[in-house]
Amino acid sequence: MAKVPDLTSEIKEFGIRMGAETIGAAPVERFAPAPQGFKPEDLLPGARSVVAFTVPQLAGYCENVPCNSYTQFGYIFKNLYIDRIAWEIARFLDDRGYWALPYCREGQTTTQVEGVNPNPFVERKYRDKEKAPRIKVALRGDISMRKAAEAAGLGRIGVNGLLITPEMGPRQRIGLCITTAELEPTPLITEDVCNHCLNCVEACPGGAITENGPEEFDPVKCIKTVQRWTSSYEDSLKNFLSRRQNAWDDETRLRRDAKFVVYNLIVGTGLCGSGCINTCPIGKRTIR
Ligand code: SF4
Ligand code: SF4
Repeated sequence: MAKVPDLTSEIKEFGIRMGAETIGAAPVERFAPAPQGFKPEDLLPGARSVVAFTVPQLAGYCENVPCNSYTQFGYIFKNLYIDRIAWEIARFLDDRGYWALPYCREGQTTTQVEGVNPNPFVERKYRDKEKAPRIKVALRGDISMRKAAEAAGLGRIGVNGLLITPEMGPRQRIGLCITTAELEPTPLITEDVCNHCLNCVEACPGGAITENGPEEFDPVKCIKTVQRWTSSYEDSLKNFLSRRQNAWDDETRLRRDAKFVVYNLIVGTGLCGSGCINTCPIGKRTIR
């Protein structure tokens, strides 16, 4: 099937109109390094392209974690917003005769921390379950959204393991739509976007990030820190608060501590201070 350049630009314009900040297309060949069972074709038979888009995170809540706004607008509302855009893009493609799978990051994430783990989504397609790919995983999604966005020319993975875009640094969330349409590939960004300042390494209270970059990023340390899975959380809390001590008077700090504890009990979102995002100088805006 021939590439459809008009369809590609139509989808990009449509995605931006729907609320995406940036949008690009990756041919499935760019996912060749992904492990078996985690490629676009594993999720949608006959897939030819992946549409990836970003939606910004705002500095107002990113740099003010933990706060209700971060949970609501950084996760709950943001995820639904992304789902809506992915759904509309999928409908757009479906209306034109292509199969399209809006990718939902929640609920398809393999949360088994260690071990040889079947990908449950892929396993369903195998009559003989023993033949389904079994892969050693650690908090791996069915498809890497960060790598998909990189493959769609939206940015590059930084030292912190996150997608770093020229426009927003790490301050975005990502949406995907996998399709059988053969779209015009968006050119890759070939130079590093991360400047290797190592602010994120220093700011991570869980020690999840190392100066050696994303290959050494430890998602288990990250999630344990964010969700208070170990006693080292207490140290993380102390570190986080001590970093803030110069900025606030006692009363403000007291209120903050109380909010911190309540937050931890309820959701655990942003409890580490999200230093991997808010200390990154790329795309950082100054307060006006
Ligand atoms: S979310 Fe927190 S614990 Fe995880 S990498 Fe970022 S700063 Fe570290
Ligand atoms: S904080 Fe510095 S090293 Fe870390 S991702 Fe951003 S630019 Fe790269």
